[in-house]
Amino acid sequence: MPEGHTIHRHARDQRRLMQGKALAVSSPQGRFERADTLDGRRLLDVEAWGKHLVYVFEGPEPRRVHVHLGLFGKFRRHKVPAPPPRTTCRMRLVSETHAIDLVGPTACELMDEAALARLLARLGPDPLRDDADRAAALARLKRTRASIGAALLDQSVLAGVGNVYRAEALYACGIHPDVGAASVPGAVLERLWDTLVAMLRRGVREGRIVTAVEFAKGEKRRRVPRREAFVVYGRRACRRCESPVRRWLVRQRWAYACETCQPPPSTSS
Ligand SMILES: [Zn+2]
Repeated sequence: MPEGHTIHRHARDQRRLMQGKALAVSSPQGRFERADTLDGRRLLDVEAWGKHLVYVFEGPEPRRVHVHLGLFGKFRRHKVPAPPPRTTCRMRLVSETHAIDLVGPTACELMDEAALARLLARLGPDPLRDDADRAAALARLKRTRASIGAALLDQSVLAGVGNVYRAEALYACGIHPDVGAASVPGAVLERLWDTLVAMLRRGVREGRIVTAVEFAKGEKRRRVPRREAFVVYGRRACRRCESPVRRWLVRQRWAYACETCQPPPSTSS
């Protein structure tokens, strides 16, 4: 599933192409109901909250489109004239210059202001948003009874963090994924939040996740092969100390840790 940096990058790219323009809006597949009610309206903004995208159109409610890519959703971009849409295209947006096709999302639906408020109430702070409230995020981590590894993937605690950032940010802060979130000292949680902000922002800038930055600097980082991009994620040995990396399921996703660099709870408490 795409992590938050991918969604923010889609929002940024689509704003650049289509913000302020009147768009032709359609659902070639037909499963985005009432898509035609937005047809011809001006797109005011594309916003990202965690893994959710929200398009805001000018005019009467409902004037928002909520998109969640899920595991299989994808965008395809074309220059106008665009090829005919595939029959699986859930939503097509067309400006005078570009077309964007959305295929295979988990959600693509009209949304009014009240529904947006309900969605946002379910989401924790998103480290990539300028208006994110760090104190509120840390309070949510302190309140949960889950392990820190489980809490980071809970979108109602923090929005936008996925499996790779979980593994790499916990590693960078020396925190074992099984440590109870509430037992992590406040100063360490602050550092974890700041680490996530920096890692996610770099991901938006570079369009991919490279967290082993001390091993791959500057321009070279863009070409670093995937297996060398991480310190523990997907690895057999820790990039720094070469101890074996342990892999186990936390919240149904593989967690990775170097138990030399990230002491397990029994030895660290
Ligand atoms: Zn290590």
